[in-house]
Amino acid sequence: MAKMNVCGKTVYKAVARGPILVLDKQEVQITDATVADVEAEVARVVAAVDKAKAQIATLYEKALEEVGEESAAIFEVHQMMLEDDEYLDSIYGMIRDEGMNAEFAVQMTGNTFSQIFATMDDDYMRARAADILDISSRVIRVLTNQEDVNLSDCDPSIIVAEDLSPSETVQMDKSKILAFVTVQGSTNSHTAILARMMNIPALVMTPVELNQLQNGTEAIVDGFTGEFLLEPSEDEIAKADEKINAELEKRRMLEALKGLPTETKSGQQVKLYANIGSVEDVEYVLENDAEGIGLFRSEFLYLGRCDLPTEEEQYNAYKKVLTAMGDRRVIIRTLDIGADKQADYLNLDKEENPALGYRAIRICLTQPEVFKTQIRALLRAAVYGKLAVMYPMIISPCEVEQIKEVVAEVEAELKAEGVAYAIPEQGIMIETPASVMMSDELAQMVEFFSIGTNDLTQYTLAIDRQNEKLAPFYDAHHPAVLRMIQMVVDNAHKHGIWAGICGELGADMELTDTFLKMGVDELSVAPGAVLPIRKLIRDAE
Ligand code: PEP
Ligand code: MG
Repeated sequence: MAKMNVCGKTVYKAVARGPILVLDKQEVQITDATVADVEAEVARVVAAVDKAKAQIATLYEKALEEVGEESAAIFEVHQMMLEDDEYLDSIYGMIRDEGMNAEFAVQMTGNTFSQIFATMDDDYMRARAADILDISSRVIRVLTNQEDVNLSDCDPSIIVAEDLSPSETVQMDKSKILAFVTVQGSTNSHTAILARMMNIPALVMTPVELNQLQNGTEAIVDGFTGEFLLEPSEDEIAKADEKINAELEKRRMLEALKGLPTETKSGQQVKLYANIGSVEDVEYVLENDAEGIGLFRSEFLYLGRCDLPTEEEQYNAYKKVLTAMGDRRVIIRTLDIGADKQADYLNLDKEENPALGYRAIRICLTQPEVFKTQIRALLRAAVYGKLAVMYPMIISPCEVEQIKEVVAEVEAELKAEGVAYAIPEQGIMIETPASVMMSDELAQMVEFFSIGTNDLTQYTLAIDRQNEKLAPFYDAHHPAVLRMIQMVVDNAHKHGIWAGICGELGADMELTDTFLKMGVDELSVAPGAVLPIRKLIRDAE
């Protein structure tokens, strides 16, 4: 690999050094070419199935630890499927009888078996159709040497990819990620949010040819300059290490602020919470001494899998977070899927304008069974800590009425069943201009507001948050958005409730002073931003 130095757009200012791992997801073209040595082709399948089984075993262990036995069980099913004689014999038969190549035989068998499962009467068996496709594509990925997003066997690496969807990042072992570099992507994408959460550098819009890169090549990602350096010189390494050490030193200084209240010199207090996307992120929250969780994006429990998470799985996840947080408030946002966060099993139609489409509360209110399962899990978990629930993408009071009906229904069911539950605090996200304009009425219906500035800015400025081409038009500090925040805070206070900010703007340190003056009651930010913002607030008059 030749020395190379390119620049991307930085989304988090930090520096990392280490080997690269390229996740090249180029579509594999599977053709039905015939092979001469059929036994060698069968042997390729046998080896690939073994490797796929080993990957699944690792995923099983990870899921067992993170989300419990029930959720992990799906990987046991995948193991069993890969040992199924009928499935394997069908593949071997196609290779031996028709001289078919391994990839095509696996694909054909996967499609045939999946269709058979899809037409079965039994619900459980029908649901396995997606699993057959899943295991087949895993075997094909192994056969075609495509990296799995599971990083368990790797050294900590700089992840380089064309782009990364939330369902891909959710499956990654975070302890193995040193930095992200993507060819596409935007500064507001969820990869960027994840990088900020983990305090690691990330570059988007980086002009690299993935197929020219080699896994294991040493590299530096400099989130201050936007540089991605491959095979750096001694001098470049020394400079990067200097920056890494300076950052470590800065963080060490901030350690002294742990346990101290977040209040200005004149005594104005702000709740300083953190945003998370998974149960394991709680570790970052505690490590950075956040006073609570202001946004748990629960949809990440729904991504990167083949079916809906069950009530039990969700209950276990929420209970884990609440237990770990003790008496600190945990605000869990109900399912905000759709737009950039897609789950194939929900069969959401392709839409012209997904950000303006069928997403978040709109899905929950039209698929009450999906919503009720989550509400049941939340009410049951509420017994274990200081839970607050908030609802995304609200545009009008009648949606809040409908939500309240669902919560009352769930409460009645749990009561009748004699199941332990508690009613959590309930609030809404203010992330549509409509909810801002209705905030006077909405404040009388809920216990708190949390302003989602990522979407609020997108909808107010009519600028797609994912579209980097619009960057020249994007003004994160646009007065229209700032005035809206003030309006929401004022309406909240008028009716005696609190209002916070959980969008990325909440962590914008150029605005901390403005937010204090506006009377914002809470800021929920990436865990790594908690201590720097506490310092800023404590230094303010
Ligand atoms: C927001 O829109 O500001 C928000 C916090 O939600 P998300 O980024 O998950 O859409
Ligand atoms: Mg949002």
